[in-house]
Amino acid sequence: MWQLAEVFRDLTVVAIPTRTSFRGINLREAALFQGPAGWSEFSPFLEYGEKASEPWLGAALEGAYKPWDDLVRSEIAINATLPRVEISRVNEILSRFPGAKTVKIKVNDFIEDSELVEAALDFNPDFKVRLDVNGGWNLEEALLNLYNFNLRFGNIFEYIEQPTLDISDLKKLKREVPMKIAIDESIRMALDSGFDDVSEFADVAIIKWAPSGGATRAKKLINKIGLPVVISSALDTGVGISHGLALAASLPELNFDCGLATLSLLESDVIKTGLEISAGTIKVTRPLPAQELLEKYSAPKERRIWWQERIETIWNNGFGERWLSEQRN
Ligand SMILES: [Mg+2]
Repeated sequence: MWQLAEVFRDLTVVAIPTRTSFRGINLREAALFQGPAGWSEFSPFLEYGEKASEPWLGAALEGAYKPWDDLVRSEIAINATLPRVEISRVNEILSRFPGAKTVKIKVNDFIEDSELVEAALDFNPDFKVRLDVNGGWNLEEALLNLYNFNLRFGNIFEYIEQPTLDISDLKKLKREVPMKIAIDESIRMALDSGFDDVSEFADVAIIKWAPSGGATRAKKLINKIGLPVVISSALDTGVGISHGLALAASLPELNFDCGLATLSLLESDVIKTGLEISAGTIKVTRPLPAQELLEKYSAPKERRIWWQERIETIWNNGFGERWLSEQRN
């Protein structure tokens, strides 16, 4: 028997095909397990090393062992997400987010991707539009691209997410462009930094349940950063999404549509019903995974062992000891 089977009860590794290539991913793997508070999910992207994956394990265990905080809202408004797809697929993809008032579009550059923005606005001329660059530009490219986007579409952008990675470039950019700037990678890659000067380079913070280390840590992070937040997912299964919804629903203030509708980018889910999008919102519930879906999408044995070893490595490097002593206190 797997040595951590008591902590990670009923550990099941699933592999769910995605509808489009997202972050180059065509198959999303996730390790699901149960604890006294319910099901939880551990699913750092495959290329993440031990250090980057550790907060995800903290989130997963918190989700399984600690009940949700009190919720102050019962449904969460969501944004549509449009990956870089062929223009002919835009309507099909956006129709999977019924009633969404906001769209987030992944872009590489103006010349390649302005048609994508055009197509999204053809689908819904009232869309609030966010562009996500994933830190892909240097300062010059950011200035040129944003100048062109602004020239062609005017001031329609709700914000630009992570146009560059470099903080000093973000500061210069923020002084030059009329759009608001949101940070995502700048948070995930610097969880321990103080964010004292964050208002000089960002207007909005993208916060994700798993990479932040779970709901408790996410809330500390939100307070530390002090910017308005968008709660977003990392292409989680419905189990992880439900924890993201609970985090969003427990915040005293929430002024943006959240990136929690990414189940629409997966071919299926382990949850049967409960997380559907209706009128641009998802109800905050904690549905159980369906046994038949866990079986249908169950990953091959060698992948299950890979995930067990991934968990063991983090656990055995001090994390397990710390977690167990927290449980005793
Ligand atoms: Mg992002």
